[in-house]
Amino acid sequence: MMEDFFILALQFKIMQGIVTKSMGLWYLVEGSDGTSYQCRLKGKFKLENKKISNPVAVGDKVDLIDDEGNKDAKIIATIHPRRNYIIRTSPKKKGHGHIIASNIDLAVIVATVATPRTSLGFIDRFLVTAEAFRIPAMVLCNKIDLLSPEELSGLKEKMKEYENLGYQTAFISALDKKDIESFKKRLSNQTTLISGHSGVGKSTLVNNLIPEADQKTSEISEFSEKGIHTTTFAERFRVADDSYIIDTPGIKELGLAEIESHELSHYFPELRELLGQCKFNNCTHTHEPGCAIASAYEEGEISQSRYDSYLSMLLGDDNRR
Ligand code: GDP
Ligand code: ZN
Repeated sequence: MMEDFFILALQFKIMQGIVTKSMGLWYLVEGSDGTSYQCRLKGKFKLENKKISNPVAVGDKVDLIDDEGNKDAKIIATIHPRRNYIIRTSPKKKGHGHIIASNIDLAVIVATVATPRTSLGFIDRFLVTAEAFRIPAMVLCNKIDLLSPEELSGLKEKMKEYENLGYQTAFISALDKKDIESFKKRLSNQTTLISGHSGVGKSTLVNNLIPEADQKTSEISEFSEKGIHTTTFAERFRVADDSYIIDTPGIKELGLAEIESHELSHYFPELRELLGQCKFNNCTHTHEPGCAIASAYEEGEISQSRYDSYLSMLLGDDNRR
């Protein structure tokens, strides 16, 4: 593989780039010259991990070479190692994972108190997923214009809990230009993945951040092998110099694909810090005597909603809450 690459490197000029969109066999790659190229893969890429259904993901740093047969296109010759990535169960191949995006600095979940209501359970699942992939996370509360002053202060109170756990929080109305500008500043010099239930205002936010994104029309549809209509392609947009967002249309949630139940407590920061203090080292923190986490919960050091989220994720009864 590497030898192939050096031979190719001698024959063709190499350009680095970042994958901005994946469209089945074709990819859009932004080259280091700032141009967007249609690219395909060189021959058959051997997947390092056979359980992954897509060899190249949005956010991947790649090396491009010229496509001899097509002067407007380029070929992806190598993929640089990923700093991190988010994976979910493949919609197309059972038992396979699909990489949604890679090389992410911050994962944002857009949440709303009402119309629609985002449950704390849903937020916690997102945060657990981000922890598992070691990606910093933010809860972005949208539509605050719909809240009374009392409701807003209640929301801020609840979000303080998340701040104390090490997560970022922000409050905006995606319709308000001023809010968008200050939120944009928080995205400086990083790549931010944006996710959320439909209806929370994600398209409104993305379109305000990047007017040319035009989320409705740029969505790519494809028929999967089973003939089911899916629109689950992530796309990377430039917000400003050196700040990018990755939008994830059609992706309702980032599944807990790779998390085993005995690992779950590691992904709750407030549970993680008590691990090792339970009487039994295989404690599930549900019913066991001498459980440090149950005591902390009884003392009010762990919130009801977070402990509930832990239990429902552990027991697997929180699907589609
Ligand atoms: P998406 O499904 O998450 O992409 O949501 P959309 O961006 O399509 O927004 C859903 C609805 O919520 C639309 O009618 C938007 O105009 C509305 N909306 C989005 N952001 C806000 C907001 O901050 N305040 C209010 N009041 N409505 C909003
Ligand atoms: Zn325990």
